[in-house]
Amino acid sequence: MPHEVFALRLAARRPLTPRVSEFRFERVDGQPFDYIPGQFVTLHFPGPEGELRRSYSIASSPEETLETRSIAIAVTEVPNGRVCRILFGLSPGEVVQASGPFGRFILRDDPGMDYLLVATGTGVSPYRAMLPSLGQRLAGSGREIRLLLGVRGPEELLYGEDFLNLARAVPAFGFTACLSRTLSAPPREHERQGYVQEALKSLALDPRRQVVYLCGNPEMIDVSLAYLKSLDFPLPAIRREKYLSSN
Ligand SMILES: Cc1cc2nc3c(=O)[nH]c(=O)nc-3n(C[C@H](O)[C@H](O)[C@H](O)COP(=O)(O)OP(=O)(O)OC[C@H]3O[C@@H](n4cnc5c(N)ncnc54)[C@H](O)[C@@H]3O)c2cc1C
Repeated sequence: MPHEVFALRLAARRPLTPRVSEFRFERVDGQPFDYIPGQFVTLHFPGPEGELRRSYSIASSPEETLETRSIAIAVTEVPNGRVCRILFGLSPGEVVQASGPFGRFILRDDPGMDYLLVATGTGVSPYRAMLPSLGQRLAGSGREIRLLLGVRGPEELLYGEDFLNLARAVPAFGFTACLSRTLSAPPREHERQGYVQEALKSLALDPRRQVVYLCGNPEMIDVSLAYLKSLDFPLPAIRREKYLSSN
């Protein structure tokens, strides 16, 4: 069944890191955005060989979206990326076509389970949209949530302060930035050197207690999935969102 296509106007743009910008879009028709944290929106662009469709996880929580009347997406500027070139050339006020929200990479009822959230780069966006829900789930529940975010260096830590703030306020929330480049200074308390999939292997993982979310780089997801399966994690407890271009 074809999905409804609607117009989005670029309301604002700001750099989050040297390679990632946040784009805020508002619906031209003034309708509200209804989505579940963890879902994505698909942007449609006409191209010489047909329409290009690219998906972007919504990085704003529903609370923030309601307040600003706009959704935020965080986009990595991919060299020679066909849609990135268009997106990064947009000025506020310009309009794009979109559909959505889509996706099942969302929090579910997992009574008593701890969460391990793993991301590379902009793969952290779904977790940012989930932040208020994560805070609510942690309150007095005895559960633990840990987030591992893989980026190259400290300057690439998008939305890092938001996650650090939750970690400061709620001891049951842990945040670790996994930095793949050689560091010029000793790692800070929330940092460790190495790839996110290596950090995963250093944790005490238990399929009876944890549900794992993996988002971002397809290779990281494949390697992590194989490892988690080797530990007997059942597939429904390994939730995945791979960032790939569709055409
Ligand atoms: C469900 C879903 C959610 C997504 N959410 C996000 C998101 O929140 N933020 C985001 O930035 N992207 C996200 N993506 C990826 C996004 O849809 C595009 O694939 C990406 O923006 C590149 O599109 P492009 O047309 O500019 O590049 P293309 O012209 O398709 O690709 C150009 C070249 O860049 C390579 N490439 C593609 N993506 C990357 C990348 N991320 N890093 C390095 N090289 C790459 C390709 O392999 C190709 O060689 C998501 C993808 C999916 C399926």
